[in-house]
Amino acid sequence: MTIRRIADLLKTGQPDESVNIQGWVRTKRELKEFSFVEINDGSSLAGLQVVLNQDLPNYSEMVRQLNTGASVEIAGTLVASLGKGQRIELKAETVVVYGEADPETYPLQKKRHSFEFLRTIGHLRSRTNTLGAVFRVRNACATAIHQFFQERGFLWVHTPLITASDCEGAGELFTVTTLNLKQVPLTDAKDIDYSQDFFGKPAYLTVSGQLEAEIMALAFTNVYTFGPTFRAENSNTSRHLAEFWMVEPEMAFCALDGNMDLAEAFLKYVFKYVLDHCSDDMEFFQQRIESSVLETAENIINSEFGRITYTEAIALLEKADRTFEYPVSWGLDLQSEHERYLAEELFKKPLIVTDYPTEIKAFYMRLNDDEKTVRAMDVLAPRIGEIIGGSQREERLDVLQRRIRAQNMPEEDLWWYLDLRRYGTVPHSGFGLGFERLVQFMTGMQNIRDVIPFPRTPLSADF
Ligand code: ATP
Ligand code: MN
Repeated sequence: MTIRRIADLLKTGQPDESVNIQGWVRTKRELKEFSFVEINDGSSLAGLQVVLNQDLPNYSEMVRQLNTGASVEIAGTLVASLGKGQRIELKAETVVVYGEADPETYPLQKKRHSFEFLRTIGHLRSRTNTLGAVFRVRNACATAIHQFFQERGFLWVHTPLITASDCEGAGELFTVTTLNLKQVPLTDAKDIDYSQDFFGKPAYLTVSGQLEAEIMALAFTNVYTFGPTFRAENSNTSRHLAEFWMVEPEMAFCALDGNMDLAEAFLKYVFKYVLDHCSDDMEFFQQRIESSVLETAENIINSEFGRITYTEAIALLEKADRTFEYPVSWGLDLQSEHERYLAEELFKKPLIVTDYPTEIKAFYMRLNDDEKTVRAMDVLAPRIGEIIGGSQREERLDVLQRRIRAQNMPEEDLWWYLDLRRYGTVPHSGFGLGFERLVQFMTGMQNIRDVIPFPRTPLSADF
């Protein structure tokens, strides 16, 4: 008989149906004449309650084996449940125990565990309610992202993970090398001789796919990347990983207004998709993790995002009747406390801030006529601060060359990037969204390590 998924049975299963399920035991309750076990197969937060009657062959031996964590296949008949909390339950007829789990040593017993502890058992934590809900929501977010872009005719492009340029200037690069670290070859000038390395020059793990996405946008008009990026962030924060996923759309023939419209439509779409497809998981986050996640999601879906310039934002912050830890003045970057004040307290909804000072933004952002600001945009959200960063890109060859020189960047390494401005250049725009930040925001999870199955952070790369 085919195996049914538990999520499906809980929704559509009818009394008297004969079904087979597979999964892991979450809990067991032994009574005199029968026992209950709850089976979870990862398809939903709720498990299926199974009733084992004492007249089953081998009853006591079977019940002894069915401890939390054991893997099973159970065939039986669905019956209307008399107990509270579930519509149907499964009356077991045959039970196969694939693998037992010793209750003396299996770490996931019924009590609540801290997220810190769960990180030390990364091979088992996905079997808990919270991490299970997180990874289902994560999957729904990823599906929504692809669906959003595919519906709009964007091409998903695969940008390289290994790169030989550090043009993003994010700084925190991981080097990729096959040189013998015990005996690094040196040049006459005693520098590392990268000509003997795998690529014949220094190579790194990418910090962003944007520059390559620009190449592809100038051939396919609208593209997006969705893949891993790497930063050797040497700080231990609850918002930074060394390996994280990034979503980066890039649109040709598109100025900043179109970019803002896309960012707003994108966030609304993804939130709506997750509310529609993971309502039980979202309800769980609301009750157990963060009591504002549903309100925040509704707020994103239903409110029109605010739009102000950086200069206006600074004026509002200077007028604020409170003191900030970091100073506010024109020219300084906005800190998370400023971003949260604007989005959370002043606007009470997501807010897009545009036209930041040239000095604090990347060389590729389009210079405004005032020459003091660039066509940058950050989307700030209540409770989170910056969630999306983007810009209109500089499409004018002479201006771009001027900016590259002003920042002392290696112009010769960027020859191909400049070529895109020499041949068929167009106004174009895009943005970057940290995928884990989105999942954190969506679920209310405090620590970014708990929204990716296998987090990589300083001194930690287990599992
Ligand atoms: P932050 O100031 O938080 O370090 P950033 O300015 O370095 O962010 P960008 O270079 O603009 O970030 O990267 C684009 C997006 O990637 C950010 O908006 C954020 O959502 C996400 N992001 C950046 N660094 C990390 C990281 N180490 N771990 C997870 N997500 C990250
Ligand atoms: Mn950073």
